[in-house]
Amino acid sequence: MAKKLRWFKHLGTNAVHAGEPLPRVLGSVSMPIFQSAMFETLGGEDYHDIRYIRLNNTPNHIALHEKLAVIEGGEDALVMASGMAAISTTVLAVLSKGDHLLIQNCLYGGTHDFVTKNLGQFGITYDFIDGNSPGSWEEKLRANTKAIYVETMTNPLLEVADHKAVVRFAKKHGLVSMIDNTFASPVNFRPLEHGFDLSLHSATKYLNGHSDIVAGAVIGSSELVGRVKRLLDHLGGSLDPHACFLLHRGMKTLDVRVKFQNASALKLAKYLASRHEISKVNYPGLSTHPQHKRATELFDGYGGMLSFELHGGKKAAESFLRRVGIPVVAPSLGGVESLITIPAKTSHAGMSREDRLKLGITDGLIRFSVGIEATEDLVEDFEQALDSVRKEPVAKPA
Ligand SMILES: *Cc1c(COP(=O)(O)O)cnc(C)c1O
Repeated sequence: MAKKLRWFKHLGTNAVHAGEPLPRVLGSVSMPIFQSAMFETLGGEDYHDIRYIRLNNTPNHIALHEKLAVIEGGEDALVMASGMAAISTTVLAVLSKGDHLLIQNCLYGGTHDFVTKNLGQFGITYDFIDGNSPGSWEEKLRANTKAIYVETMTNPLLEVADHKAVVRFAKKHGLVSMIDNTFASPVNFRPLEHGFDLSLHSATKYLNGHSDIVAGAVIGSSELVGRVKRLLDHLGGSLDPHACFLLHRGMKTLDVRVKFQNASALKLAKYLASRHEISKVNYPGLSTHPQHKRATELFDGYGGMLSFELHGGKKAAESFLRRVGIPVVAPSLGGVESLITIPAKTSHAGMSREDRLKLGITDGLIRFSVGIEATEDLVEDFEQALDSVRKEPVAKPA
C-alpha cells in the first residue's frame, strides 16, 4: 500500500507542506479538525478500511501520517494516543509468544517498566544489552531473538549507543531494529536513513513541542507499519482528532524550534562547563562527551537536552532549582518552555539508589530541557542562580 507522497528537499518545508490535503479542504489553509467518529462507507471490504477514529484513518490521521513519513523518510507512519501506546503496540506487533528481544539497558522509565513488568505476560522474553559494546551482544542472541531495541540518546546522561553497529547486527541476524528517536527528533536524526526498520516517538515532546498533548508515532515500511496498525485497531490506543490537529500544528514549526534549541543548548552547555561551581556537564555537543565523535557523525544537531552536576551535590542542586527563575520545575521535555528536574527525584525515582548510581545518575544530577526562550536570558538566569547558591552558607556536617 506504499503511497506516493508529496515531498520537498528540506525538512523545514516538509514540516509545513508535506501531507497537506490537495486540493485544500474547501480552500482551508490550515487543516480543519474532522470531529466525526465515523465516515460514510466507501465500499471497501476489509474491517480495517472502515472509516472510524479508532481505525486511525480519518482525514486528520492521514495528513499526519503522510507528514511524518516524509519527514523521517519512511513509506508510512502511524500516530497514537501516547508515546507509550506507540512503543507497547509496536513491540507487541513485532514480537509474539515465544520470541526474544534484545533491548538497551538504559531506557525511558515507562519502556523499562513495560518490558520488565508486562512482556512476560505475553510470553516474550528479553535480555538487556550495553549499547556501547557491540562485542557483547552476540552472546545474548538466541535462536528465537526477533528484534533489537535502542534509544537515540539515553535519559538523562545523553549517551549515544553504537547505532551503526545496531543496524549491522540486526541485518546480520535478521532482527527487526527499533529505535526510540524522541530525544533527537527527526531534525537531528532520521533512523531509517541509517537502516533502522522502525522509528518511534513520544510526539508529546519535540514533534508537538508545546507541552499541551500526549501523542506517539511510529514510522517505517508500509509492511511493518501496517502490522502495527492492525494491532492498534484492536488495542484501541488511537489519537483523537483534536489532538491530531494540535500535533499537526505543532509539527509545522518543528524545524525552527529544534534548530534553535540545538544552538541554545550548546551555548548553555559551554557556559555551564566554564563555571567552577559545576563539576560535570553531559551534552553530546561538548568535546568532553564520551561519544562526541559518534554523535557528530550521526546527528545533524546535538539536541536540546543536557544534564549537569554542581560540586555541592544534592543540596546544591535543590538550591539551584529554587533559585532559577525562567525554567519551570516539571518533568517531560521538548516544549517551548525550558524545564528543569532532578531525575533521582522524578523520572528515576522508581529505581533503587544503588542501581541509579551504577548508571551514573547521582542524587544531585540536574536535567535541563532547553525551550525557545532567548539564550541570553537563560544564561543570565543560570548566572544569578549559581552566584546565589555559592553565597549560601554551607551546612556544617553533623
Ligand atoms: C516521554 C517519553 C516516552 C513516553 O511517551 P508518552 O508520550 O509520555 O507516553 C517514551 N520515550 C521517551 C524517550 C520519552 O521521553
